[in-house]
Amino acid sequence: MFQLRRSVPALVVLPLLCAAAAAAPVAGVDTARIRAADGEPQNWMTTGRSYTEQRFSPLAQIDAGNVSRLGLAWTYRLDVDRAVEATPVVVDGVMYTTGAFSIVYALDPVSGKLLWKYDPQVPRAKAANACCDVGNRGVAVRNGKVYVGAFDGRLIALDARSGRKLWSVDTVPDHRRSYSITGAPLVVKDKVLIGNGGAEYGVRGYISAYQADTGKLAWRFYTVPGDPRKPPENKAMAMARKTWSGVKYAESGGGGTVWNSIAYDPDLNLVYFGTGNGVEWNRAVRGESRDADNLFLSCIVAVNADTGAYVWHYQEVPGDMWDYDSDESMVLADLPVGGTPRKVLLHAPKDGFFYVLDRATGELLSADPFVALNWAKGVDLKTGRPQIDDSAADWTQGPRLVTPGPLGAHNWQPMSFSPRTGLAYIPAQETAALLAPDNDAKFDTHTGTWNLGTQPLALPEDPKQLQPVIDSYKGRLIAWDPVARKAAWSQDYQAPWNGGTLSTAGNLVFQGTADGRVVAYAADTGAKLWEAPANTGVMAGPMTYAVNGEQYVTFMAGWGGAFPLAYGSISLKAKVRPEARILTYKLGGTATLPPPEHQAVPLPEPPPLTADADTVNRGRDLYNGHCGVCHGLSAVSGGIVPDLRYLTADKHAQFQAIVAGARASRGMPSFAGRLEPAQVDAIHAFLVKRAHDLHDELAQATASGGK
Ligand code: CA
Repeated sequence: MFQLRRSVPALVVLPLLCAAAAAAPVAGVDTARIRAADGEPQNWMTTGRSYTEQRFSPLAQIDAGNVSRLGLAWTYRLDVDRAVEATPVVVDGVMYTTGAFSIVYALDPVSGKLLWKYDPQVPRAKAANACCDVGNRGVAVRNGKVYVGAFDGRLIALDARSGRKLWSVDTVPDHRRSYSITGAPLVVKDKVLIGNGGAEYGVRGYISAYQADTGKLAWRFYTVPGDPRKPPENKAMAMARKTWSGVKYAESGGGGTVWNSIAYDPDLNLVYFGTGNGVEWNRAVRGESRDADNLFLSCIVAVNADTGAYVWHYQEVPGDMWDYDSDESMVLADLPVGGTPRKVLLHAPKDGFFYVLDRATGELLSADPFVALNWAKGVDLKTGRPQIDDSAADWTQGPRLVTPGPLGAHNWQPMSFSPRTGLAYIPAQETAALLAPDNDAKFDTHTGTWNLGTQPLALPEDPKQLQPVIDSYKGRLIAWDPVARKAAWSQDYQAPWNGGTLSTAGNLVFQGTADGRVVAYAADTGAKLWEAPANTGVMAGPMTYAVNGEQYVTFMAGWGGAFPLAYGSISLKAKVRPEARILTYKLGGTATLPPPEHQAVPLPEPPPLTADADTVNRGRDLYNGHCGVCHGLSAVSGGIVPDLRYLTADKHAQFQAIVAGARASRGMPSFAGRLEPAQVDAIHAFLVKRAHDLHDELAQATASGGK
């Protein structure tokens, strides 16, 4: 067929192709077409594939019997080696996806050839305005437009044919606050929905709906009450205000951000979204009493899709003080619960319980732990409230080792659900964190500053104390049966922060791993059927599509996010570096993966440590409080941003200038006005100390014959 076309004179073919291209829809998606997504299984029209967010594909050409023949069809190298989190959309013959700093790519899904690229030019120093790296979880498409939420808070509509910008709106009302967008928009009828992040920095959470054609704001739902000196904006805010005992949230913003998951039920005309933690994790510093629920923190909320009016909510963690966001992916399904068919919403959030809700009413049907946890003894199904174990988890009274820790039992990496097996496939993990209160903390109004009300988060510096912590962090793919309320099977990983999942009618579950592999399992039994190297950690949810009758599976590969940024010393056990690439496979594919590009760098000789122990100790707290969440707690980087133990003589000499903003264009924000020169010197002294620690560890390992 291809040969035949090539033999026709070009002059004849070109006008024909152009005529065909003009007539063919490009990203010609609307709500009716997404509702009928199962009728065109070759396409994947929203990041969750359909409004159910099941991430289940009816395609079955690749199946449990032949998946071992999967090979690379093509690869595409992305621009920025950080936080690859998107699930691509493939529709009408084009793949649309995003990389770090919200760069949008349109590619030929058969060849991987770039059709166009759009870089919204997010200022790189904005990276400091978000907790968890500069990733983006993908685009929405509708009627020839591609929508992306830019990291700095813009919602941008692009022409799907050319990548040309059609309109851009600033979704952030006040840039003195550290709002950011990493989530994917969702198109619902004539609107495009987007939330944002930034709770720890001091923002008021909300989700917005914009007119898809013009970018005009249609409605906005705030997730926490506004200024208590003014009347509440609506009935929902009046209800929420009654659950806050203090007034301090008016200054900090309150939090409750909608930074990830949005779903839609067209029959009920309800939009669902998850909300995050309060600004200060420490409820006492937040100015809130022990029995204040603080709506709508850590909730699933349902609103009318046309008006944004409140319909119901379910609060998973009343008065949350553990960073237990409820923003993790939601799945809509129809399941027999207690023998009765129910329209349910499935949720496996950071707090470690698997919730089954009636999505028409918000009624809790079941809640069971899918990992070991200690913050609650269970969830009372009559009241819907968790039985919180204060002795184990109330760290405002003193340090507590809380499970799960702030990384969660399941973070943003999307889960999938197969209606064939009835199982939800959760990229779960075991994490714990020692939380200790700083009950005197005051709200810091600087942008880019965390306000947790904790003592600086840290990890042990002594390798002997650190090793048990490293060993305790693990990953697990759990196939959860939401009707039987237990795991059907699981697969253990040495490291947490593994990728989202895809399930298919070929009885397959696909998942990328933190330790640099892409894997396929049998959906019913969990037997491992195929794996291939990815050169880098894989976090994003994979997807599948077909063109000309041939099925493809795509993984967005690339490492980053909160875990390797903050928990570098643990994440290094995954032994991967960030290398951002799209990997697309098909049966019998013969393309090759280029070798890893990153080379280990030798440790420069550190300057002499001249500071006294007091200065180093002061520097340690300042470092962990101001620098640790990006450069790695206790000065061990996971390799996403520079490991400051490896500073060269040049950088040591320029240290004050760099902290004052000399490298802002490269992504290192200015701390001028936030840190005094003497404080910067103390941080520097701590880093020199840590460089010597590493130097000694490496010398010891060499002496004992290790590497
Ligand atoms: Ca959070």
